[in-house]
Amino acid sequence: MLPVSEPWISDRELELVTDAVKRGWISPRGEYVDRFESLLAEFVGVDHALATTTGTAALHLSLVAADIGPGDEVIVPDMTWIACANVVRYVGATPIFADVTEDSFTLDPDSVRDNVTPDTAALMPVHLYGHPADMKPLLGIAQSHDLFILEDAAEAHGAIYDGDAVGSIGDAGCFSFYGNKILTMGQGGAITTDDDDLADRIRTYRRDGMSTEQKYYHPSVGYNYRLTNIQAAVGVGQLERSEEILDAKRRVADRYRENLTGTDLRVQAEHPKATSSNWMIATVFETREDRQRVRSALAERDIETRPFFHPLHDQPPYRADSTVCPTSKTLAERGLVLPSGPRLNRDEIDQVCKIVGQTN
Ligand SMILES: *Cc1c(COP(=O)(O)O)cnc(C)c1O
Repeated sequence: MLPVSEPWISDRELELVTDAVKRGWISPRGEYVDRFESLLAEFVGVDHALATTTGTAALHLSLVAADIGPGDEVIVPDMTWIACANVVRYVGATPIFADVTEDSFTLDPDSVRDNVTPDTAALMPVHLYGHPADMKPLLGIAQSHDLFILEDAAEAHGAIYDGDAVGSIGDAGCFSFYGNKILTMGQGGAITTDDDDLADRIRTYRRDGMSTEQKYYHPSVGYNYRLTNIQAAVGVGQLERSEEILDAKRRVADRYRENLTGTDLRVQAEHPKATSSNWMIATVFETREDRQRVRSALAERDIETRPFFHPLHDQPPYRADSTVCPTSKTLAERGLVLPSGPRLNRDEIDQVCKIVGQTN
């Protein structure tokens, strides 16, 4: 069977995680969390990286630390993983869904402009399927309305926009290291930022709101969102191997593009300013029926695919006050993710493309 994604764990990760366990570093206490954070800060090019239990926890903590809460609105793309909206609800704020662009499937700056109100407090651009959102116009909007920018880089480790790594462009960036992400530790997350005060607040909130000066004194309500060293050890190995993994993802994406250029199938476009990290090969069919037919043909041969995310404006908890985002709705009906694992070989990719070509 060809899965949509699979983790690529080597002997190096095994060696590191064995060391962590042998030393008794199985909880958040131990050296691997620190090593993971320094490697990630270096990888992204920021002053601080703060490890968390999940990518969702990273997004939630960032909003808490940025003091976003009841009465605030946060603009989120309509096409993304549901956690982006849920974390806004966790802090008592309101998610507002803006549409995405036709070609890169990321937050459309025009739609963001249409949705800014006096209550808007933050923007959450998502680097969907590994492709950076168009940050320059978004930074402009944020500057003129004094908005916090939280980049969701959960799917985009190593992606670059105009010379800068994603996660280093907004006020803070969030990464996920869940099992299907580009770099993984099974379950885990991290926040990246250059803001010293924000980093301090995140550290406090991450540890149940405990004062850094006085043990067991808790000035605020915090969360237990600390990563363990077992996971961090795997993360250290993955970061050490990031170049190898990203190169492999690039090779897979290049082969798909070669094969699919000139067909009726559209692949997520890579902008001139952007370098995608190619998390997933995201394609769009001309009709919903085309997608369904190809999806079934691939499934018959044990080739896994996945549809795009269902639009957030149409998810039951968020339906009431939402307006329809037409581009995201169309993409959700016609979009399909093809097998994208870093270890797919040319023959496997050619085989997938052949079946797509024959059934589309
Ligand atoms: C995976 C993902 C998350 C959440 O990360 P978890 O580690 O699974 O909590 C958030 N946003 C996007 C876009 C994701 O793909």
